[in-house]
Amino acid sequence: MKKYDLIIRNGRLIEPNLGIDGVWDIAFDDGKVAAIEKSITKKDNAKEMDASGKIVLPGLIDLHTHIYWGATSLGVSHEEVALRSGTTTFVDAGSAGPGNFAGFRRFIAESSALQVYSFLNISYAGIFGFAPGVMVGECSDIRLLNKKECLSVAEKNRDLIRGIKVRAGHFAGGDSGIAPLAIGREVADELNLPLMAHFDHPPPGVEEILGLLREGDILTHCYRPEPNSVLTNGKQVKESVRMAKDKGILFDIGHGMGGMAFEVARTMLAEGLAPDTISSDVHQLCVNGPAYDLLHTASKFLCLGMSIEELVPAMTQNPARVLREPGLGTLASGAKADAVVLNLETGEFPYKDAAGETLIGKQKLSVDTIVIDGKIWNGAE
Ligand SMILES: [Zn+2]
Repeated sequence: MKKYDLIIRNGRLIEPNLGIDGVWDIAFDDGKVAAIEKSITKKDNAKEMDASGKIVLPGLIDLHTHIYWGATSLGVSHEEVALRSGTTTFVDAGSAGPGNFAGFRRFIAESSALQVYSFLNISYAGIFGFAPGVMVGECSDIRLLNKKECLSVAEKNRDLIRGIKVRAGHFAGGDSGIAPLAIGREVADELNLPLMAHFDHPPPGVEEILGLLREGDILTHCYRPEPNSVLTNGKQVKESVRMAKDKGILFDIGHGMGGMAFEVARTMLAEGLAPDTISSDVHQLCVNGPAYDLLHTASKFLCLGMSIEELVPAMTQNPARVLREPGLGTLASGAKADAVVLNLETGEFPYKDAAGETLIGKQKLSVDTIVIDGKIWNGAE
């Protein structure tokens, strides 16, 4: 007879892969999802938890974070962020480059209780100069962009490296223009991995960037404010942006300290251009606002009019597809037993974007319980 380690009862389970949205019991055993039933019979010494009035989801995936703590100035402790955001899978977006990836593997990925992946920075040293008093873009010296080094490190670390990250913009790339992204394109193609493009002040402009992206690639900071937003005159969605969506380029929030403006998001949402993936771009300069974390970012989109049913795939199913990890972001039978129990609070909550606007929202998602490998997780020991 089957035994269970943990049963969570009576929560509203939302699981887009399974087409489930309703009140169900879910049981975990031996690190895997064991059963979803209307009423699961208790067996042996199974721990039980009542989630009445709460939301139960697959463990959340944050596709754009900076968690190379201690080795890069922008890195945050991902286990601390996990506790308040329900993120069970973190994707570091370019903190590490080929020159310091070995440390990311040993000191972050291998010692983590949580799932960790990386998009490898095209620049050799990763994001090395990112602090209030020191801002040196890693793509501003073209000598740092070495295709061979990227290919070699990515080939040896395919288990962790699931994409290539390029920060293309005046701040990250100085006078390098589109060249870093062009090199990233070649590397991503040779590896058959997706390319994630950051953009900031032009050049290059967003149109030029989109011109180098293909189906399955990711435009992060997609709702960034002017200059270089996805809108024309701050009002209409650029034609190239619409075409990019049709081509299958994925739009990722990448909130950060400068990557998300409510005004741009409102226009895009009104035009049907919702984010494919919700991500925080959490790093040292935004972990205490305005981004905070994945769940805070998601709460903002709830207050901008997206429904919880629309938000969930963008934090589970869609980023799992980008990672090519069908066993993550799902609670299908046999999947890794990572789950979160959330509260949906109502009240008046101030939310700030990266352009200085404050929105008073009426809803807020908060973490109740995190389940890792089928057990309640309260942080690193
Ligand atoms: Zn970032």
